[in-house]
Amino acid sequence: QKAEWQKLKDEPSVTADGKKFTIAANIGTPNDMPGVHENGAEAVGLYRTEFLYMDSSDFPTEDDQFEAYKKVIEGMNGKQVIIRTMDIGGDKHLDYWDLPQEMNPFLGVRAIRLSLKNEKIFRTQLRALLRASAYGKLGIMFPMIGTLAELRQAKAILNDEKQKLIEKGVKIGDDLQVGMMIEVPAAAVLADQFAKEVDFFSIGTNDLIQYTMAADRGNDNVSYLYQPYNPSVLRLIKHTIDAAHENGIWCGMCGEAAGDNTMFPILLSMGLDEYSMSATSILRIRSLMKKFDTKDLKELANEACFVSETAEENEKLVNDLMKKIN
Ligand code: PEP
Ligand code: MG
Repeated sequence: QKAEWQKLKDEPSVTADGKKFTIAANIGTPNDMPGVHENGAEAVGLYRTEFLYMDSSDFPTEDDQFEAYKKVIEGMNGKQVIIRTMDIGGDKHLDYWDLPQEMNPFLGVRAIRLSLKNEKIFRTQLRALLRASAYGKLGIMFPMIGTLAELRQAKAILNDEKQKLIEKGVKIGDDLQVGMMIEVPAAAVLADQFAKEVDFFSIGTNDLIQYTMAADRGNDNVSYLYQPYNPSVLRLIKHTIDAAHENGIWCGMCGEAAGDNTMFPILLSMGLDEYSMSATSILRIRSLMKKFDTKDLKELANEACFVSETAEENEKLVNDLMKKIN
């Protein structure tokens, strides 16, 4: 099977009826780039920059960050790279950053919330990203956005840094896109409003599932409630994709669900544009994609969201479908 998949390394990601999608890689550091190429990724859909901060004994400088981002962007030779601003907080801590203890860190000052409270650190990262944008096709993505106010504030700071760099004569990439993660249920519900203010969405199912089901993604005692195929989660995903398309923007997914065999046909049926996953999953999903004719999937999304009542029903729905196509 692995040998069969390997043949797809330089092939496009297409369905049996010739519909084209993007399969991208999630990375944590520029050192992950060989795996990205070996597995034929068509983009980097998520670069988790917090590792740059975590693998360091002090805040990485603007130049350190610029070099890391540039390396990844140049390494993709014009293919898109989505870089997420730091997602510190929650379960991710820095020894050199003394942050207040919180009762519920996953519901506390995490990701964009932390960036907006520490503007100087945020601005340093944004300048490094803007400078790196000149070396290819960059998308800057904000994590954990829950309100339009947060998005607008983050964008205003980004634009302010951009103007200052332009005034200094620094070149900024023409293809720069600005997007957000959809991983807070509030943002998924209002996706139609958010879609008017960004160039793309990327659905972070790891968090979207935990926040929708109110089940800690790392707690075994509630793992039975962590249900990717629960119709409630699927409705939020479908609403997000529909809202993106109605407003003329693209929608990807960079949570684990994007590389999951059972989730995949449901996402394809919803018309998700980009699937970003660990590099080692890419060829498996590309091979699976080739088996599906989108015409046969027309009803699947609606059934999974509005007819099924449980996650188990949806697993069965997909398993039956898989038996038919194999
Ligand atoms: C997610 O929440 O799905 C996601 C991709 O972000 P992280 O796993 O880094 O929280
Ligand atoms: Mg997340």
